Amino acid sequence: MYDRILVPTDGSEPAAVAGDMAIALAEAFEADVHAVFVQETGGWPFGLSEEETAELRRLGEEAVAAVADRAAEAGIEATTAVLEDSDPIHETVLAYADEHDIDAIVIGTRGRSGVGRMLVGSVTEQLLRESTIPVVTAHEETTVQWPFEGILVPVDGSATAHAALSEAIELAERIDAAVHLLHVVDTGLVTGDVDGGMVLEALEEAGEQALDIASDRVEQSAVTTVESSIVSGPPSHAICAYADEHGIDAIVMGTHGRTGIERVLLGSVSEGVIRRSEVPVFTTKAEPDG
Ligand code: ATP
Ligand code: MN
Repeated sequence: MYDRILVPTDGSEPAAVAGDMAIALAEAFEADVHAVFVQETGGWPFGLSEEETAELRRLGEEAVAAVADRAAEAGIEATTAVLEDSDPIHETVLAYADEHDIDAIVIGTRGRSGVGRMLVGSVTEQLLRESTIPVVTAHEETTVQWPFEGILVPVDGSATAHAALSEAIELAERIDAAVHLLHVVDTGLVTGDVDGGMVLEALEEAGEQALDIASDRVEQSAVTTVESSIVSGPPSHAICAYADEHGIDAIVMGTHGRTGIERVLLGSVSEGVIRRSEVPVFTTKAEPDG
């Protein structure tokens, strides 16, 4: 399923964690690793001097070499590149992925220690939004426990979550992991003077249905262990709490879900999980006809 894995790196600590995740996946799938640093030539208001450009290139070469060194320790020869382009960084990364027939992108994000709106990092956010192949995120505090023993798939009944489940099943089959399905009844949706009890009951019923459909699919696969749970609370917190409590090693989910608007970069549940999760998060798009 993963033959070529791309790690866009800026030499930061989260990118190093992403590199290790990519190398573990590459070992398991006998995949090639590509490490790239993108030197954006546009967007500098006063331009860069020759020395500054050279210094940036040197940093980029160091960053990709660091990933290649780690890969070499695992017996994998990584392909490295420093790409110079005036396009935005995420576009250069996606063009590279396209040209090299990449199957997954593994990228570091800023973790819980960041500040403000840009917690995820804008390059990562754009990549998550625009990539048609799975994107795996890790931040500084992410622990990569490989091979994954438990994979969590949060389901909301959307086509995107359906696609995420396909990805999770394939992954779990390959490494013999258990699949955990979780639906969170979003209690935050019940506010004001609506009849909260009735609304919650309806939400719960819809969640149970989504879980039933998902667990039928897992049971028809070669996955040997499947667990289904329904809890209530704020979804991204509940998903991360479940992961902590059930020894989950990776979360596989959609970039969008049932309740959002397609044009937002990233659904709020996905964004919350990507920021908070202590394990790698695989995000997928809906299948084209989904
Ligand atoms: P938003 O909810 O922010 O308006 P959205 O619905 O498009 O936008 P998310 O809710 O973030 O996007 O959905 C992304 C993924 O999160 C889904 O594909 C699914 O995997 C998971 N998810 C969303 N809501 C729930 C939930 N209530 N319970 C379990 N998983 C969920
Ligand atoms: Mn939603």
